[in-house]
Amino acid sequence: MKIHIDIDCFFVSAARILDSSLEHKAVAIGGRSDTKIFEKDARNQTVDFKNSGNFVPIFYKAYEKKDDTLQNFRDEKGQLRGVITTSSYEARAYGVKTAMSIQEALFLCPQLIVKSPNMSFYQELSHKLHLFLMKHIPLVEQASIDEFYGDVSGWVSDKELPSFIDELRHNIKKELKLPVSIGAAKTRYIAKMATNYAKPFGSKVIDTYNFDECINPLKVEKFTGIGKKMQQRLHAVQITTLGELRKHKGMLYAMGPYAKEIYKRVNGESDTPINIHVRRKSIGISRTFTPLYQRNEVLRRIHILARHLSFAVSKLRVIPTSFQMHIGYEMQQKSHFSFSQAELFYEKKFHDICVEMFHKADKYKRLHIIRISIHCGHFTRDSKRELSLLNFNEDIKMLPLNQLSQQLRAKYGLDILKWGGEL
Ligand SMILES: [Mg+2]
Repeated sequence: MKIHIDIDCFFVSAARILDSSLEHKAVAIGGRSDTKIFEKDARNQTVDFKNSGNFVPIFYKAYEKKDDTLQNFRDEKGQLRGVITTSSYEARAYGVKTAMSIQEALFLCPQLIVKSPNMSFYQELSHKLHLFLMKHIPLVEQASIDEFYGDVSGWVSDKELPSFIDELRHNIKKELKLPVSIGAAKTRYIAKMATNYAKPFGSKVIDTYNFDECINPLKVEKFTGIGKKMQQRLHAVQITTLGELRKHKGMLYAMGPYAKEIYKRVNGESDTPINIHVRRKSIGISRTFTPLYQRNEVLRRIHILARHLSFAVSKLRVIPTSFQMHIGYEMQQKSHFSFSQAELFYEKKFHDICVEMFHKADKYKRLHIIRISIHCGHFTRDSKRELSLLNFNEDIKMLPLNQLSQQLRAKYGLDILKWGGEL
């Protein structure tokens, strides 16, 4: 049997560990891009790699915020910015939801306590939970910062499973002070559905006896793997619940291999083994800021993002061969540019790639820019791609310099060396 463990409103639960007066209150964690890295006097910046698996981002910290009141969410003009990333069940009762603006959340729930995120503390807690689970379950896979899958086949009998997951949940609360919900079923996909029923702070097993009553009423969008496109295709043929989906085997099989796979997963007939060595496949950095028109200032910020990202790439000891830049504009316009190059990686070259990608991606020159994100992927260790020898001789000369600059950064902070374009 597989189990799925999910921390209940993780960021709020973490805040409650630090401040118990937040228990039983309407609390939310607000998210606002940390734009401190763009400040000209930014100092002592570090990169946090602890527990940064495939799905857990690497955090770039400008410095720890000591004050975490609502003031943190005001911009230079005093306007409240940012969105809710997590809310307590007490806040959800007022309609507060993830991705809602902080302003709207305060309108719905005026007594809402909004706290700033504390990324390094979340990473620490996530890491502790991962270690705890590895001690108590044979196979553990981390799926995100607050979600884990485990395989307990041959370890816990089906009969003992309900009490096993219930005890596990109470032990996690006792040891780590974290409330989690745990679902169990034959496959990981159904176990995740079981967690829905367990929340908050509960446990639930879906087996052959309650399979139909648990799975059939769920909306198709609840099922992991049924994305927006598939939802639209299913809605177009009047399939809105998993029960309806299960009734249309022939139709799903005719919709192609992916729909067929979804059908099998929903029926608990297809599974993916627990993978204990999930490796990072890509890495990125992004920032949202107050609308900005000046392209020179945008470019200066791109230099800073590139400097942070290339430091992380060097730390990971990987050679990325695909690069993407996404630009978010005002009025919800977006554009992006991707680029592949199988050559050695070093910071100076990465800066040039980023500048070039920006010029190619910047399609709406009359609009203000509000978001930049840069991603690198297709590391050479994972792909069959071989490095091109085109610029090899030139590149290899740059490596010692690159190594030296990254060593300096590891020692003195990310801001110790800056490129011309940033000044
Ligand atoms: Mg969660």
